[in-house]
Amino acid sequence: MTRKFFVGGNWKCNGTTDEVKKIVATLNQAEVPSEDVVEVVVSPPFVFLPLVKSLLRSDFHVSAQNCWVRKGGAYTGEVSAEMLTNLDIPWVILGHSERRALLAESNEFVGDKVAYALAQGLKVIACVGETLEQREAGSTLEVVAAQTKAIAERVKNWDNVVIAYEPVWAIGTGKVASPAQAQEVHEDLRAWLAANVGSDIASTVRIIYGGSVNGANCRELAAKADVDGFLVGGASLKAEFIDIIKSATVKSA
Ligand code: PEP
Repeated sequence: MTRKFFVGGNWKCNGTTDEVKKIVATLNQAEVPSEDVVEVVVSPPFVFLPLVKSLLRSDFHVSAQNCWVRKGGAYTGEVSAEMLTNLDIPWVILGHSERRALLAESNEFVGDKVAYALAQGLKVIACVGETLEQREAGSTLEVVAAQTKAIAERVKNWDNVVIAYEPVWAIGTGKVASPAQAQEVHEDLRAWLAANVGSDIASTVRIIYGGSVNGANCRELAAKADVDGFLVGGASLKAEFIDIIKSATVKSA
């Protein structure tokens, strides 16, 4: 069983055309391990997707940060999965905690989105994670399992799904989960998948960690057995993203 290391960069709601071009230029010049070793996906805001796709090196790929839950139509302000596939955008991030919290996206709604996006041919980075209150109440696995269950009830084929475990308390806070904390949840989640979805899926689906990953902490996290890569926010806008990509080599060391 090998799970290819995956590094995603979530640019969130950041960037001007010039800034985006600069980030892409930095990525294009970087010397990183080959596509056999690491899969790299960057996720600019919708409006920059065509620009980034046109400029980005061919061994890196692009992702949207969201899409609508079903076929497009009278949904002002939304972008449909069909539009993303029409533009050859291969990936989409769904269920990010910022959307779950600020836009009240429920587990069921996220599950519906994941199923619809997959059915349209997109690959999905599906985010799960607990708040600090939930962690302190001892319900981390319960929360993460419920979020994953809502996806599992709607999805049969997991080939095009990457699960991003992103504890809410670690996102954008500079407070990274320790390697042991990350490993514990990834291992528990994989065990939950084995028991509830299937052992083959549990052993092949990639579970990546997100939450204040940076150039300094990535290698120690990457060394953990069930950490299959990262979803990176703030640091994906900086040159240290290259170091995070390079941490993939920890797996083959
Ligand atoms: C994210 O938003 O997915 C994220 C992990 O952010 P940060 O790395 O900034 O904590």
